[in-house]
Amino acid sequence: MQTAVVNKLVVIGAGQMGGGIALTAARMANMPVSLVDSNAGSIEKQRSLFKQLLSKDVKREKITIQQADEIIGRIRFETNLAASVEDADFVIEAIPEDLDLKADLFKKLSDNLKNADCIVATNTSSISITKLASLYKRPMNVVGMHFMNPVPVMQLVEVIKAMQTSDGVVDKVMQLAGAMGKTCIVAPDTPAFTANRLLAPYLNEAVQLLFENGWRPDNHGDGGNNNKHTHAITPDSIDQIMKLGSNVPMGPLRLADFVGLDTLLSIMKVLDKSGLGSGGKYAPSPLLSLMVDAGWLGKKTGRGFYNDYQ
Ligand code: NAD
Repeated sequence: MQTAVVNKLVVIGAGQMGGGIALTAARMANMPVSLVDSNAGSIEKQRSLFKQLLSKDVKREKITIQQADEIIGRIRFETNLAASVEDADFVIEAIPEDLDLKADLFKKLSDNLKNADCIVATNTSSISITKLASLYKRPMNVVGMHFMNPVPVMQLVEVIKAMQTSDGVVDKVMQLAGAMGKTCIVAPDTPAFTANRLLAPYLNEAVQLLFENGWRPDNHGDGGNNNKHTHAITPDSIDQIMKLGSNVPMGPLRLADFVGLDTLLSIMKVLDKSGLGSGGKYAPSPLLSLMVDAGWLGKKTGRGFYNDYQ
């Protein structure tokens, strides 16, 4: 047990990533965690999801009832950011992929974090860590700690050092990730880092292929996948081609739904504006923007390229 690494971990944003990070820290690293969200609905959703996941594992005899109770007992569910971060020594932010929202949060953290040694890690998928560090009062304490989705399952944490980040901060991130059962790989602070520089354009290209071939979601409740007579190409056909042809466990459109189409669009916008590609190399597919405008963000809203989510 390596609980000494962190005395009070605060995870900000109780969405799919923040929820996974908080549960994994409480379960694998046995540490007290505060999970904070500005939306009480998100907090309640995670609380009941955690109970469901843990009771499934009790039924499968992976943990005992007592262990499940202890894990949930280590997590505090909160909506008051200022009060929960005050005495934190490690904060991980997992709010949406939007620079303005994150800038506002970093300002609030500058105002409310009292512990001068507190590490501020961001789970951003694509935004420059150097930029985010410049928005916090102690830039040397800011670091990228990019967990993969779903957090309890995926092995990797991509660690990104801002130009300002101190080496001691990177060491502590590695200790915490290790205590959570994860493997860290350090990646440079380039737009979308390494994982999403490669993954996001691949997912976007699959969306663009649908767009160019005229596929649009229909309103018959099947996400357009059964609309055989109008679409030669469907999300399912692309996903099957990649699964059977490249041996990936999940096709790109199902994966895009799991990532969240709003998050994918934000990552593509960061890459597009970065100056890295020419000739629209990283331009988001118009269909991706349409899906986000329609509010069909994938699994988290129950509808994306597929709509078989509960
Ligand atoms: P999400 O939309 O599922 O959850 C975001 C949560 O943040 C919501 O519950 C929202 O209520 C809350 N929130 C918004 N503003 C807030 C604020 N100011 N203070 C507190 N809570 C606030 O998003 P997500 O998919 O969990 O992504 C979160 C971050 O993780 C993003 O930066 C994203 O790029 C990154 N990320 C996502 C994935 C993925 O596959 N979805 C993978 C790795 C990293």
